[in-house]
Amino acid sequence: MDSLDKSSADFLFNDMDANVILRSKDNVDFRVHGLLLSMSSRYFRDILRLDPPNNTQSFQHETRDGADIIAVDDSNNTLRKLLAYCYPHSVVNEPIFDQAEDLYDVLRAAEKYGMDGVEKKLRMALREPRFMEKMPLRSFALAVHHRLPEEATLAAKETLGLPLVEREYVEELELITGGTMHRLQAYHTQCSKIAHSVASDLSWVDRDDYTWFTCAECGGLRSSSSYVTISGNRRMLVVSRWMADYLAKADVAVTERPIGRTVSCPELMRATLEKASQCRGCGPKACSELRQFCRKFAAAVDLATSEVELKLRFC
Ligand SMILES: [Zn+2]
Repeated sequence: MDSLDKSSADFLFNDMDANVILRSKDNVDFRVHGLLLSMSSRYFRDILRLDPPNNTQSFQHETRDGADIIAVDDSNNTLRKLLAYCYPHSVVNEPIFDQAEDLYDVLRAAEKYGMDGVEKKLRMALREPRFMEKMPLRSFALAVHHRLPEEATLAAKETLGLPLVEREYVEELELITGGTMHRLQAYHTQCSKIAHSVASDLSWVDRDDYTWFTCAECGGLRSSSSYVTISGNRRMLVVSRWMADYLAKADVAVTERPIGRTVSCPELMRATLEKASQCRGCGPKACSELRQFCRKFAAAVDLATSEVELKLRFC
């Protein structure tokens, strides 16, 4: 895009056979095929009809090299990305978005022009982990700002992976109100309480033959007296010290960051398995059994917190 001059778009959108020119607000002309535009957009289909209604103010009867010019209020960057979705994949690749904000600009344009198919694709892109997981607070603020409740809810869930007290400022927070931030914090606090209860009540554990319950080596050492209650109201002794330590640390971690993946975060797993490997009895089984346990643990946390309602208000 950097190579664009002030009046014409790049090669793809400079086709002299194209019959319509979309002129961006920064005065870049995109020559496009009206048929493709009409197929993608209800808005352009209406104004490109042979007998446009007299009241279509946006349609200026100005032409350039025989093409009708339609002035739009989108930047050339937004328009270029939007139009890429209207052309066949064999001709142009779907745009790559480095910034979520760019994606929202294009989404706003797609909504404005009644491009339902494009809107659907953009909303799927917004849900990609590189936005939701990597920058949840930003994604949340942007989704609320752009009034997208589903995306806001997904992003809010991802913010649970950030400790409440250590959240860093991101400038997108300026887009939301103090009330919205308060509701997000209340959601986190509620999820923390529930995650803590899942970590302390192990009724979701359906196996009693895990190595940390049965290991003769660990049992012989009598190194732990940590009892837990698992499914079926069975009271079990966690004979392995390493597992008792894991359960205590996982409880603290998941209370602070109440999202399932916290229970198998790399640091916690590494430290736990290192300790487990020191027992001849547990060592060979610890890795696979702990991973299986963590999958169930994570699912139990996510299931429980999914019941917590995030109250959102869009004004
Ligand atoms: Zn052991």
